Amino acid sequence: MNSALLPLSFIIPAAAVLGACFGSFSNVLVYRLPRNLSVVGPRSFCPSCKKTVAWYDNIPLLSWFLLRGKCRYCSTAISPLYLILEAAGALLTLVALWRLGNNVEGAAAAFYLLLLLNIAIIDWQHMIIPHTLTITGMLTGLAFSIFTPLGIINSALGMLLGAGIILAVSYGYKLMRGVVGMGGGDVMLMGMVGAYQGIWAVPAVLFGGAIMGTLYALTAGRGQVAGQNKLPFGTFLAAAAVVVLFAGDWIWSFYMGLF
Ligand SMILES: [Zn+2]
Repeated sequence: MNSALLPLSFIIPAAAVLGACFGSFSNVLVYRLPRNLSVVGPRSFCPSCKKTVAWYDNIPLLSWFLLRGKCRYCSTAISPLYLILEAAGALLTLVALWRLGNNVEGAAAAFYLLLLLNIAIIDWQHMIIPHTLTITGMLTGLAFSIFTPLGIINSALGMLLGAGIILAVSYGYKLMRGVVGMGGGDVMLMGMVGAYQGIWAVPAVLFGGAIMGTLYALTAGRGQVAGQNKLPFGTFLAAAAVVVLFAGDWIWSFYMGLF
């Protein structure tokens, strides 16, 4: 593992601010990607009165409180999701550095968690997984693996296995039922999971995502699992990926200890 490059007194606040800024950008992604709007321009605007948000009203974590959760111009309520995403960005970045180290591995995990957060929310709200995020995930996952204990071979094999399994299942499902079970978004998402977590994490994440999705369908969906598959499977896969990232080793030793 790489050693720390900078003192913690600098790293912790810097990581929190950077994470909050990424969380703030998440708001742009979550709103614009499913609507096929550009994420680079125009500048952030109020969805209600369309006025451009000034830079001083766009400060992560602070502006939402200063504006008391309302647009400065039209007083329309600003969704607390904005604040939640900014706080989540800061929190996830700190947790990643704390658990995986103040090094490239920690930075990779932080970036990965932020991608998963965006994907989980967008899939939950719109039932789509933007390829922009998953392709970014596959490429950065491969690039980070060169500098982490995961290694480029494990990362590349994980990407192929992750995407390959979903592609095979989806194709098989189509042959049997004549309908598409899982979308191309799920294929790309599992490719990204494999690229970041390696080949051994792929079955664990698929298994965990399937269990969470089924439990959700049985409780919230009131048992309406049969018929057309309308679960945001990507959200459950993303949640399972986080569990495996932080608790995978622990769950594995617990499971092996049972026998
Ligand atoms: Zn407004």
